[in-house]
Amino acid sequence: MLIRNLIKRFLNKMIPVFTPCVGEEELKNVTNAIKTNWISSKGEYIKKLEEEFAKYCGVKYGVLTNNGTAALHLALCVLGVGVGDEVIIPNFTMISTALAVHYTGAVPIFVDAQEDTLNIDVEKIEEKITPKTKAIMPVHIYGHPCDMNEINEIAKKHNLFVVEDAAEAHGAEYYGKKCGSLSDIGCFSFYANKLITTGEGGIIVTNNKEFYEQAQYLKNLAFGKEKRFVHEDVGFNYRMTNVQAAIGLGQMEKINDFLKIKRNNAQLYSSFLKNTKGVILPVEKPYVKNSYWMYAIRFNEEFGLEKEEIRRKLFEEGIDTRDFFVGMNKQPVFTRRGFQTEELFPVSDKLAETGLYLPSGLNLSEQDIKYICYTIEKIQKEAEDKKKRDEIFRKE
Ligand SMILES: *Cc1c(COP(=O)(O)O)cnc(C)c1O
Repeated sequence: MLIRNLIKRFLNKMIPVFTPCVGEEELKNVTNAIKTNWISSKGEYIKKLEEEFAKYCGVKYGVLTNNGTAALHLALCVLGVGVGDEVIIPNFTMISTALAVHYTGAVPIFVDAQEDTLNIDVEKIEEKITPKTKAIMPVHIYGHPCDMNEINEIAKKHNLFVVEDAAEAHGAEYYGKKCGSLSDIGCFSFYANKLITTGEGGIIVTNNKEFYEQAQYLKNLAFGKEKRFVHEDVGFNYRMTNVQAAIGLGQMEKINDFLKIKRNNAQLYSSFLKNTKGVILPVEKPYVKNSYWMYAIRFNEEFGLEKEEIRRKLFEEGIDTRDFFVGMNKQPVFTRRGFQTEELFPVSDKLAETGLYLPSGLNLSEQDIKYICYTIEKIQKEAEDKKKRDEIFRKE
């Protein structure tokens, strides 16, 4: 019986962490790109998507790239970040943020997280600033905007650039303004699990015309302005194809609906989980709109089980989850290079140990969410019962 249940779940009942949502609009655009033979980065959909996404963010310019990591690297190159520089980033983030800094030859400087929003702790930024600091690159973790006013103020005081890693925050807002529009350059990813996707892809957005032009130039191998094949600078081939942009434009028609679904699902999760012991729910500060890219929760001792155990039990019940990020201080690629190995990052360490995110796909039903929440509650109650029984046993 149990085995039959397991097989059934693995075959068709596993609730995945995310599934992209592409359909007729994308198919129509992609078909058109192919029928007209415009499949490289020269097609008309590229410019259209750049304009449309920039407009969505409330900024003037957009520059598409082949992925989000490339967008971050390109943004730093546009700002002239390179060897001998330092860039301040959150310790609790996905590896791309730190790698983008490393690619430029600059050193990423890690700052611990805030426990409630999971974002970079703005109180701890200034102590990390040195004469080498060139920029701050905050990340809106899991869709909750960072304290951008404070970050921009620090940057202004010390004459630094600010680049937002908004790869998880399409549509999220801070005092009514969209993430990506709150700094010198905003960077997004269009990977298949992001709010909107082009399969693989990314974009940088900015209000600065010079940054825009420099980004277009560097992403396209820095072809000569006078003589095409005479190159003055180190450029990159970070171009997106027209076929990918065709998918992106289809997605743009639905971006507001997608955001509504994410926010609605988060609300359902929170309402069903709010009374479960030991579960810490994601926050939404009163001055922000969280995009809830992934519905991220943490567990404390009250739950009665370690996170790994909870994840395993959820998987057995057909619910896929993902661990929180492992902090940059724990990445062999950086510890081996001796980056801030003497420092402690207690908040990020704790987040990594106690956090996971639940299925956050766009096609999740209310029924799925209920099932997931009741399963979490069941696991908690069983752990509590077991503890009680063990205590009685020990007394006898
Ligand atoms: C997804 C993501 C990226 C990188 O995106 P890719 O398109 O996969 O290169 C960068 N930063 C953060 C925080 C992300 O979540």
